[in-house]
Amino acid sequence: MKKISTKLIKKEYERLGSIWKAAESLGISGQTVHRRLVAAGVDTSLNVFSKEDKKRLIEDYSLYREEKMLDYLAMEMGRTKQFICRQAGKLGLTKNKKRGYYKLEISGKKFGRLTAIRETGKKIDGCFEWLFLCDCGNEIRRKASLVSGGFVMSCGCLHRDRTSKASTTHGLSKSRVYKIYNGMISRCKHKSRRDFKWYGGKGIKVCDEWKRSFESFANWAAESGYKEDLTIDRIDSDGDYCPENCQWLTLSENVKKANMEKHEISSRSKKR
Ligand SMILES: [Zn+2]
Repeated sequence: MKKISTKLIKKEYERLGSIWKAAESLGISGQTVHRRLVAAGVDTSLNVFSKEDKKRLIEDYSLYREEKMLDYLAMEMGRTKQFICRQAGKLGLTKNKKRGYYKLEISGKKFGRLTAIRETGKKIDGCFEWLFLCDCGNEIRRKASLVSGGFVMSCGCLHRDRTSKASTTHGLSKSRVYKIYNGMISRCKHKSRRDFKWYGGKGIKVCDEWKRSFESFANWAAESGYKEDLTIDRIDSDGDYCPENCQWLTLSENVKKANMEKHEISSRSKKR
């Protein structure tokens, strides 16, 4: 291999403005040019194609290309379009060009709930269609770039789950459990409520898990014997709203308990 002076490499790099061009012009590898430039203290950071850059390009190149937005991708990556296209070529993203169709190498990759299985052989709008297996077991066929670009994330079950979770939780009617949930949060939180003094005012809190998630509360409700005619009760009336301190009582049981406690409180000094 011919010995090329660092001075010449530097000159070519400055003349052509790119490691790859300099390498091509000198007939040596880009890696060598890069190494020699770094050793000479030349800042070539713009020309270093990092792991993150590669990942980004593999994920986005086909989609952006298809949408004729490579200029935009290059801008986002802080590179020239020429540069990223050359990198894409090196990564094999453009090698499978067949009459303008571009392949994505996504076999086995997971996007949301979908795992890429194989190409179907069909082409849609300049992109290959793939067969995907959804986490729920359904198989769907979609234009690969729609999935790799994050526009489609499941067979449709994701949307269905989101909507059904919002309307019912584990068969509990949302309206009543949700009202109980809201009431509980509100009693502990809103000073303007007339009953705040018995709850938030007394230092009663809703545990973090329930506060964070209605679903978590609803799950606990289902597991702890919730029924439509039951009300929530704190076993220790000085304790918080949390799984360990709550149970379901009928309204009359709850009222009876509250009255007994009121009686107890008035006949002895309050605990705190
Ligand atoms: Zn699914």
